[in-house]
Amino acid sequence: MLSYSAMGSGHSARFSLVAILAVLLSAGGIAYMASISYPDELGIVDAQRRQHQEKAEQIGQGVQEAVVAELQATIPVDERRDFGAYFKVSGRGEVLVPSLEPLRSREESTLEGLLPLRGFRSRQRSLERARGLESQACRGAEQCTAGSPRLRAAATLYESIEEYSDTGAEALLGLARVHRMAAQSDLAASRYRELSSRFRGRVNDADLPYVLLADIGLSEVGQTATTTLMVLRNILNAEYNAPNALLEIAAEQALETLESLGLSGNEASEHAALRRRMQRIQGQTALAMQLASRGVELAAGATVAAKSVVAPWNPTETLIFRRTDEGLVYGMVLSESELQARAASEARGLGLHASLFVRVENLQLASEGKGDADRSRRAQVSLGPLWPHLALVLWQEGASRDGMGDIAEARRRHRAITGSLVAVLVLGLLATVRGAARERELARLKSDFVSTVSHELKTPLTSIRMFAEMLQQGVAGDDKERESHYQGIIVKESERLGLLIANLLDYSQIERGSRQYKEERQDALEIANEAAVTFARFREGEGQALQLLTEHNAGDCFMRADRNVLVQCVLNLLSNAAKYGGDGAIELRVQRNSEVGVVAVSVRDHGPGISTAEQEKIFREFYRAPTAVKSAIEGTGLGLALVKRHVEAQGGTVQVESVLGQGSTFTIRLPEAQ
Ligand code: ADP
Repeated sequence: MLSYSAMGSGHSARFSLVAILAVLLSAGGIAYMASISYPDELGIVDAQRRQHQEKAEQIGQGVQEAVVAELQATIPVDERRDFGAYFKVSGRGEVLVPSLEPLRSREESTLEGLLPLRGFRSRQRSLERARGLESQACRGAEQCTAGSPRLRAAATLYESIEEYSDTGAEALLGLARVHRMAAQSDLAASRYRELSSRFRGRVNDADLPYVLLADIGLSEVGQTATTTLMVLRNILNAEYNAPNALLEIAAEQALETLESLGLSGNEASEHAALRRRMQRIQGQTALAMQLASRGVELAAGATVAAKSVVAPWNPTETLIFRRTDEGLVYGMVLSESELQARAASEARGLGLHASLFVRVENLQLASEGKGDADRSRRAQVSLGPLWPHLALVLWQEGASRDGMGDIAEARRRHRAITGSLVAVLVLGLLATVRGAARERELARLKSDFVSTVSHELKTPLTSIRMFAEMLQQGVAGDDKERESHYQGIIVKESERLGLLIANLLDYSQIERGSRQYKEERQDALEIANEAAVTFARFREGEGQALQLLTEHNAGDCFMRADRNVLVQCVLNLLSNAAKYGGDGAIELRVQRNSEVGVVAVSVRDHGPGISTAEQEKIFREFYRAPTAVKSAIEGTGLGLALVKRHVEAQGGTVQVESVLGQGSTFTIRLPEAQ
């Protein structure tokens, strides 16, 4: 049974209802969302964001100002050794600070004693002889004691030349060595002390100051931390005027010696401090070497205002420099971690919230920590014009501690929901407008239908009445042929009227949902035959020829259908073929496709055909193609719509295939019955 309420209009009524509901619900939703919007919280979020941004800018500016102030301070750069990596370059590009030889003392060595005195040659020979004896001593079986002959001979020779200023220093050194070999530490120490007091300011052939040699000797003899610490302190204080490389080696050795000695608390802390100084001095030497090749460039680029450039040797360091009034270039090297520390102290000064902290990030290098799960980025500003490649980022630990994260999340959700509601509202409105247009169209079709139907009913009725009256009045007289012609017309018009009324009744039944089908096993061929016979009777042999074709395998094509309904459907198709299908023959065909279990009844004409766009519309209720209306072909626009409803209600399908100019084929397919 088919239950189809208010065909077409039922569809659009439901459609309109859904559209109106969508409009109402989404409008309600939007109103609700508006009522729970977060105006205050949003304000707080925005204010906090602005505040964070301002703080970050203040910190950046603070760091910048502090650095520039430091650079412009009146203390000469040479005296700022303790502040970090400062440099000073002359106007010509010569690096003045840091010094390449920070350990070397600037005091000149004295020439005294370098001019040979009388008898120098013979003393020189004694010195060589003494050295020879010394190197032979303590060899093989000879015991190394003060009494050993070679040692004693060497000592006597050294003593003979010890008082002269030209050979005295080497003689004292020799004596000290001999005493040490004989394990006379005290004597050795007194020789070293004498050497250092008598030959201060003098250097040996290798350019090493005797003071340094004496001090090293003392520390070796004493094996005490005090003397070694003294040597190291003197080296780092640039007390010795020796080449830097040699001093550096001596200092390293002293540091190593101290490591192996047991140090007291005070000594240990001095040792550590001296080691730090040593490291800084080494850093300064390295910086001096790095700057050496850039000096000219820096001198040329410097201006009165501070400028910056990324250190060519390390992308995480920046050189900040300016030209002084005297034409010198003062500068400093700042690493990112130093900047970070300065930024942190600025932040402390500003009284930043405890959960916030600043980080300096290099925009050019991938910076770590961006994906920290429990921290969130609050603001990011450039660190200032001196560091265009560095950003100051404000992070917050425990992102949602102040609820800002929640509010921001709620705001995002709020926006998304409101956005979707607005989209639904717009769609609903569009659908409502479209629904209304469809309603109007349906109303128009219906009113057209009423007038068409009245006309369709009136035409056959008029001729029936006319010919019946003529027969009654005996117009035909005795002319039997004329009489039967009149009767034929009356029958034909009645049949036409019958089909029309049957269609109308079906339509009203379907609309009320009360259409019922009496499905029985039917022979498709018989149905086609019956339709063909009725169709022929309509037309009294006039019009196009009708050919009933069956496939050779269609001998017994059975299907389940309501016989009368199906005959009426085929009749509708045949009537359309006659009305719209031109003058060519009409083919009525019955086919069976056992493979898919389908029986097909098709009607083919050789008329003008139906365009693809039209093919979609012709099965709608009341639809009539404009050409059909224009050429005044009778019709209600219900025929095909009814065929479709009837066939589909019985589990079948109707299809049209058409090529413009070559005719159309309408096919009804129903399941095969055994
Ligand atoms: P009616 O024939 O009453 O107008 P139908 O529902 O039977 O209504 O047909 C709808 C429309 O389909 C017709 O107005 C006509 O334009 C088109 N049509 C139907 N059959 C054919 C055909 N065989 N050839 C060309 N057009 C056709």
